[in-house]
Amino acid sequence: MMPLIEARDLVRIYHVRRGLFGHPSPVRAVDGISLTVTPGETLGIVGESGSGKSTLGRMLLGIDDADEGEVRFEGRAMPVRGTSDWRKLRAKMQLVYQDPLAALDRRLTIATQLAEPLEIHRLIPNEHRSARVSELMNAVGLRPDQATRFPHELSGGQRQRAVIARAIASRPKLLVCDEPVSALDVSIQAQIVNMLRDLQQQYSIAMVFISHDLKVVRNVADRVAVMYLGRVVEEASSDVIFRSPMHPYTRALVSSVPRPGSPLQARTILQGEPPNPADRPSGCAFHPRCPLAQDLCRATAPVLRPIDDGRTVACHVTTGNDAQKAA
Ligand code: SF4
Repeated sequence: MMPLIEARDLVRIYHVRRGLFGHPSPVRAVDGISLTVTPGETLGIVGESGSGKSTLGRMLLGIDDADEGEVRFEGRAMPVRGTSDWRKLRAKMQLVYQDPLAALDRRLTIATQLAEPLEIHRLIPNEHRSARVSELMNAVGLRPDQATRFPHELSGGQRQRAVIARAIASRPKLLVCDEPVSALDVSIQAQIVNMLRDLQQQYSIAMVFISHDLKVVRNVADRVAVMYLGRVVEEASSDVIFRSPMHPYTRALVSSVPRPGSPLQARTILQGEPPNPADRPSGCAFHPRCPLAQDLCRATAPVLRPIDDGRTVACHVTTGNDAQKAA
């Protein structure tokens, strides 16, 4: 199936000053990522803070420019940001942020904010607008009387429902959800995730679901890409990742997720500090925290390569490919 969206060798470099008088030095927040998402599919992107997953999400939408590489949507290169072609395309690709209060305008009622994208993208005749707003509110489980409320009059979960209603107003083909439930109570998180899944099926929307929380990703993703310091270190179907993680970093992340119906497994505690993109270790960036690290790992960065079971992994040791990589 043709990918809905395809990223090829994406690189994003920030220039970060070290100390008050230091010269800015380049930091590769996203460092050579290629991925695809097919129509209706959900790709989970997981990793700790600083792994570059939010930057990658913004690059997929064309909100953040690529320094190298490109993004293609339905086979066509992403138009230049700010052009009318880009604005038209943006109606098909929407972003759901972590903080719904920041995403909504505090001065406008929920109904007004849901009507905005319909008006901006001229999606519906004026006389049908309020019916469409009611339909959107119903789709995300908001009550009709909440149409006239302001964001601060709703709960966190209701606000995120409003943000999602606005995101689907333009009938997008792709939703990029960046930590969409991490600011919500655990009891509300499951409701929002289930709602996203229902909406996705109902409207055939593809999703890129970015989260540091593997429990949430497990419930929503068809495939999972695990990021560490700007690179994908393992990618596979959700089933394969959670059943038999291969990369030592993925294993540590997955070991923290309880498996329904299975006894508690031994948890692998990640050693050392979370990654600092401005201070990338040599060779495999994970080697200072990796229990399997060898001399080769400190010297040479492993390449992401396919394994027989359909996954791709970047590791010298767990793929049994250390001799080849040393060559
Ligand atoms: Fe660990 Fe080496 Fe594999 Fe990196 S390449 S994850 S350091 S075993």
